[in-house]
Amino acid sequence: MIPYGRQDINQADIDAVLSILRSDYLTQGPAVPLFEKSVASYTGTQYAVAVNSATAALHIACLSLDLGPDDWLWTSPITFVASANCALYCGAQVDFVDINPLTYNMSVECLAEKLAVAEKAGKLPKIVVPVHLCGQSCDMAAIHGLSQQYGFKIIEDASHAIGGKYKNEAIGNCRYSDITIFSFHPVKIITTGEGGMALTNKPELADRMQRYRSHGITNEVSKMQPRPADEIWNYQQISLGFNYRMTDMQAALGVSQMSRLDEFVTKRQQIAQRYNDELAVLPLGTPWQHADSYSSYHLYPIRIKLGVAKKSQRQIYNELHSVGILVNLHYIPVYRQPYYEAMGFKPGYCPEAEQYYKEAISLPLYPAMTNEQQSKVILKLQKVLQV
Ligand SMILES: *Cc1c(COP(=O)(O)O)cnc(C)c1O
Repeated sequence: MIPYGRQDINQADIDAVLSILRSDYLTQGPAVPLFEKSVASYTGTQYAVAVNSATAALHIACLSLDLGPDDWLWTSPITFVASANCALYCGAQVDFVDINPLTYNMSVECLAEKLAVAEKAGKLPKIVVPVHLCGQSCDMAAIHGLSQQYGFKIIEDASHAIGGKYKNEAIGNCRYSDITIFSFHPVKIITTGEGGMALTNKPELADRMQRYRSHGITNEVSKMQPRPADEIWNYQQISLGFNYRMTDMQAALGVSQMSRLDEFVTKRQQIAQRYNDELAVLPLGTPWQHADSYSSYHLYPIRIKLGVAKKSQRQIYNELHSVGILVNLHYIPVYRQPYYEAMGFKPGYCPEAEQYYKEAISLPLYPAMTNEQQSKVILKLQKVLQV
């Protein structure tokens, strides 16, 4: 069986987790700030808030930017549902900006057009969530320019993209955004089992996200409400928050995985390069890369050339699965999910996203993938497509 993605855990990773199990703190102890520091210094960002998933990171990022009822959040339709659901958690509304047919990321042209229309209707978004699909950065300089013109905030959904670069700088540094979030789910670039992180250069946002992570509680006296001295104890709840904390077992795994991040991405780049070279003659498109991008290659989606290839997307998917090559589809456009269709979204809403959806198949790609496994995928694909 060859999955589309999987974690890579070595003895040092295991030892890191075991050492926490033998220590004093199992959750929110010393390993969590160590992991935060490790990611913040890698990306060159001031503040990092570790949480128990990227979904939680998206939620507290939206809350910290004051997203609420009557507000709009816009994102890409070709993403995991969490990029959109975070708006609904806040009682806000979601809309989708079609993708660029080359990068499969949010199209800057479509965003600009949609903003001009929304301005006239008085329905500008409060937050835009660009998603760095597969690990390739969106055109953040352009999106940032539009945010200055129209006054929206930016949360980068970099769930696929830790270890990647944009204009030679680490994705996650928030140069063009308010907050960036990462995911550490096992299929992503590094893992903590479940886990996520929100990064920002703005101290007030970091402060709010830290409180949302843990029940709205502070233990800093300077932030507490004034009370008689004998009523000030070690903590106060000053807002409403959640329990989105990361455990120390997870954080220790994260620190250990961070030391392997560059190696993981290099390996992913090599595997992608071999696919590029060996699939070039087949009736399919391989992932185009912008010159500003160094991708972490979380995913490697091919696009079947319909009409040229003699098989349908579904046939190819089934034939690969039948020999244990577990390709996948990333993603069904979010607004085509039944829950979103029930909100009124119609098939065909974003034409480029729909076209991608009809053609895309993610091939297996993960650092521990062997040459033999990759050969098996390539050979099978050649066979399937050349019949
Ligand atoms: C995986 C993923 C998420 C959610 O990550 P979790 O850590 O599983 O909550 C959000 N957005 C995108 C684009 C993802 O791929």
